Amino acid sequence: MSGEDIPYGPEQKPWKETVAQVAMFEGKPVVSPPSRDPKEVYNYPGQEKGVTPRKYEVPSVGLNADQARQAQDETFDTATVQTHNFLGYQVCLKNDYSTVAKYLHTMPNNIGDPFYPGAFVLNTKWMERNVLDYYASLWNAKWPHDPNDPETYWGYVTTMGSSECNLYAMWNARDYLKGKMMMTDTTKKSPTVTYVQARAPADNPNMFTPISFYSEDTHYSIIKAMSVLEIKNFFEVGNELYPNDNPLNPGKEWPVEVPSLDGDSGPGCIDIDKLCKLVEFFASKGYPCVVAFNYGTTFKGAYDDVKTGGERLMKIFETYGLLERQIVIKDPDNPDKPIVVTRKGYWIHVDGALGASYMPFLQMAFNLKKTNIKPAPIFDFRLPFVCSINTSGHKWPGAPWPLGIYMTKTGLQLLPPSDPAYIGSPDTTFAGSRNGLSALVWWTYISEHNYDSQVKAVVGCLVMAEYARKKLEDLQKTLNEDIWLSYTPLTLSLRFKKPNDEIVYKYTLAVEVLNYNGKPRTYIHAYIMRHVTKELIDNLVADLHAPGAFAGDNEAKAQRRWLRALNKSAANDATTNFREGLILGKGNKGVEKGTKKLLHYPVEGRGFL
Ligand SMILES: *Cc1c(COP(=O)(O)O)cnc(C)c1O
Repeated sequence: MSGEDIPYGPEQKPWKETVAQVAMFEGKPVVSPPSRDPKEVYNYPGQEKGVTPRKYEVPSVGLNADQARQAQDETFDTATVQTHNFLGYQVCLKNDYSTVAKYLHTMPNNIGDPFYPGAFVLNTKWMERNVLDYYASLWNAKWPHDPNDPETYWGYVTTMGSSECNLYAMWNARDYLKGKMMMTDTTKKSPTVTYVQARAPADNPNMFTPISFYSEDTHYSIIKAMSVLEIKNFFEVGNELYPNDNPLNPGKEWPVEVPSLDGDSGPGCIDIDKLCKLVEFFASKGYPCVVAFNYGTTFKGAYDDVKTGGERLMKIFETYGLLERQIVIKDPDNPDKPIVVTRKGYWIHVDGALGASYMPFLQMAFNLKKTNIKPAPIFDFRLPFVCSINTSGHKWPGAPWPLGIYMTKTGLQLLPPSDPAYIGSPDTTFAGSRNGLSALVWWTYISEHNYDSQVKAVVGCLVMAEYARKKLEDLQKTLNEDIWLSYTPLTLSLRFKKPNDEIVYKYTLAVEVLNYNGKPRTYIHAYIMRHVTKELIDNLVADLHAPGAFAGDNEAKAQRRWLRALNKSAANDATTNFREGLILGKGNKGVEKGTKKLLHYPVEGRGFL
């Protein structure tokens, strides 16, 4: 069948009959027909249930009101069903944002820095600043933001969720540690903004080469950020320059990431002893270090001990002169007066996508003896070495779209030194246009949930998680089968053996393959967030009681097959391209000499499959 005859649109007429008159010229369409039937190509067995693909095909003549409504209604129904049964990810679906709906007729845009009113007058920056102040206080930062006080916080509400926060944090860290500065030359008629970078002195060639460290439970956005920003991690540099010096296992290849305590079978926290050994190796050679801690890992919900880890790292940095460094920039207009700034030789970032919004309230609940569950050690700006923190707005608070907060200290921002001749640009955020509705939604949330209600919500979640754990333990007894149930009270997440695909789909459960004592096991996790009710847990447990509930590929077979297929197609393809990637054999076999190993990018685990 020629592409022009492929049935298309709600009525499934041949595509050529659905082309708008304005798109015809000299008897032919000026737009391309489908090359294959999209309904056959976009075919995902067992997925997108309740969706009728033809209803969503929009021919160029358009849909009539009835067709459009049918598609809208169907999508709304599937969203309603999935929301009702939602258990798998750490997001909250409880909020009523109907007061925000009327703003959909407006288009607030918080472009630029939140602390400059901005020329795009239709914005919500006054709400954004109050949301930021609220979190600054919660995280014990000095607030409000004051551009002249380096100890006060600076931050903004991101366009993406914590992924953008992590990207921004790593960008901030990289340029800060590389000795970069943004300068505006106001001596010229039209001022120019330039990035300048200090040169490494001859006696310390590594002075401006940051090396990154993060655990094997770290979210992939951190790794992606390293790749985008070309920040080298210790594995890359270790393998390339110091192949025989791995301090954890002398003579052996360096680990790709900092090991977590007891690996996959462990709790998911970074192994601080190993982190310190790895950092010390590079610190002793003069490299500045970027350390990303997790405050609530994505899959296991584990909390790194930021306090102990940071304190131990500070001793190492003190030994090797990395607590403070003088950075000298020669000013061509003023050669006798170089600019000298003092900066730290490290950056400690805390990825608190869920935990940074949740743990402070668990701490309050614990202080008031409303729970006996002990919170994780502190992570916030009370620790003087913490350089940046982030959180996601759609996770603990809950919001209709992804949003996040990135926060650092004003003195660590990438701005020029406090020389009155140099003035920074307020284009301080990552994106250009920023969603003003995000600040509005977040402000609405904090305005409707005072601390009391947040503490109550935390306690409620802990009680519910305990209820779920008991029900699943009973299930384990009834089935007389080990379903690998594991629950760390702090995390609100319950992990157990992956049930069949239908149940996974129904409850939107997150699947992950973990290497359990050398054997791959497929787990799912359920997150007991504010919207989770006893009824929802009872429904899940009832489904898990049904015969065949745990039938299927629990031993990670499906995932392995998928990976093998992916690798095979790459191997068979002589023109292996960037997207498919090369296959690294054991000991680099199959990789041409002259290439080098870069970052390890996770393709399974961490919520991918
Ligand atoms: C969810 C999560 C992220 C990514 O956040 P998004 O909001 O999905 O961009 C980053 N880090 C951790 C630890 C997370 O759990």
